[in-house]
Amino acid sequence: MMKNKIDTYRQKIDNIDDKLLSLVIERMGIVQDMSEVKKSLGIATFVSEREIKILNRLTNRKNKQLTKKQITDLFEVIFKTDKKVQHSLASRAYRKENSIIKVNDLSFGGDENVIIGGPCAVESEEQMFRITESLTKLGIKMIRGGAYKPRTSPYSFQGLGEKGLKILSKCREKYGVSVISEVVDKDSAEKAVKYIDMLQIGTRNMQNYELLKIVGSLNKPVLLKRGMSATLEETLLAVEYLLMHGCKDIVVCERGIRSFSNHNRNVLDVGFVSAWKRESHLPIIIDPSHASGKKDSVLSHALSGIAAGADGMIVECHDKPSEALSDGHQALPPSDFTELIYKSNKIFNLVRENEK
Ligand code: PEP
Ligand code: MN
Repeated sequence: MMKNKIDTYRQKIDNIDDKLLSLVIERMGIVQDMSEVKKSLGIATFVSEREIKILNRLTNRKNKQLTKKQITDLFEVIFKTDKKVQHSLASRAYRKENSIIKVNDLSFGGDENVIIGGPCAVESEEQMFRITESLTKLGIKMIRGGAYKPRTSPYSFQGLGEKGLKILSKCREKYGVSVISEVVDKDSAEKAVKYIDMLQIGTRNMQNYELLKIVGSLNKPVLLKRGMSATLEETLLAVEYLLMHGCKDIVVCERGIRSFSNHNRNVLDVGFVSAWKRESHLPIIIDPSHASGKKDSVLSHALSGIAAGADGMIVECHDKPSEALSDGHQALPPSDFTELIYKSNKIFNLVRENEK
C-alpha cells in the first residue's frame, strides 16, 4: 500500500521533471532566437543587467518555500546554458570571418602587413617632419608619436600634450599620412579626436574601464594594447567595453608581458597572437619595440610576431636615438625599416598563403 503511494509520488515528480526540462529547452530556444536578432542589430547578446533584473523579479515574488539564495542558485545554472548562445561581440563565435578594420587607406586584418612607425614621443615639429619624411619614402602610411606619455618616473619627459597632437596633425597634412597617438584620460581623448586618425590605449590603461567607455564613444578607430599582465579573457572584455560603447574599429596590440627574465624589457607573447586569432575576429598587431626594449632585438621580435599570425606591427623609430627624450635605446633608425619591411612582408605573405 505504502509502496504504491511512493510510486505515485515518483510518477508525479518524473512528470514535473519532464515538464521542467521541456521548459528549459523552450527557454533556450527563445534566448537563441533573441541572440540572432541582437547579432543582426550588432548589439551585445549578453547583458548582465538583464540577469540581475530577472533575479530581482523572481526573488521579490511572494513565496515561502524557496529562499532568495535557492532561487539565485537555481537560475545561475539556467543562465549558464544561456551563455552557450550569448557570445561576446569580440568573439570568433559571434562573427566567424575576420573583421577588416579600415583607417583611411590602411586595412588591418586583411592582406596587408600594416607597419606603423615613428618615435616614442613627439619632441618637436622638426623631429616629426624629419622622421615622417624618411618613413613615408619607405612606404610607411601610419606614423606614431606619443603626445601624452605615461612614464614610470614622474621626473621623465611627460610629452608635449596638445602641442604634440597639433604637430602630428601637421605631419598628416604635409605628408598625407595617418597618425596615431596615445590618450590617457577624458581630456586627452577628447582633444585627440580633432587631430589624429587612431587613438591608442596603452598597456597601463587597458583596464581603465572609465577611459575605455569614454574612448569607445568617440567614434574613432582604437589601438588597444594588451595589459602587461592581462589574460586573453581580460583583453577580450576590455575590447567588449569599447564595442559596447559604440566603437567598431578596434585593433589589439601584443606588446610583451612581464616575466622573471631581464635579458629583454618584456616577453613578446607570440602564443597570445595565435590564441587571439582563434578567439576573436578582430585584428592583432605586435609591438616589437616595447617587447624587446633593445634596438638589436626588434627585428627578430617583429618577424616572430608576424610568423605567429599578427596583422602588422607598431615600431619605434628615431633618426637621432641618442638625443631621443624617451626610449631611444629601442628605436630603429629609419634606414633599418627597409630590411624590416622586406623580411616581414615575406613572412606575412607566407602565413596568409597558408591560411587560404
Ligand atoms: C607606447 O607605445 O608609447 C607605449 C607607452 O607603449 P605601452 O603602453 O605598450 O607601454
Ligand atoms: Mn616608447
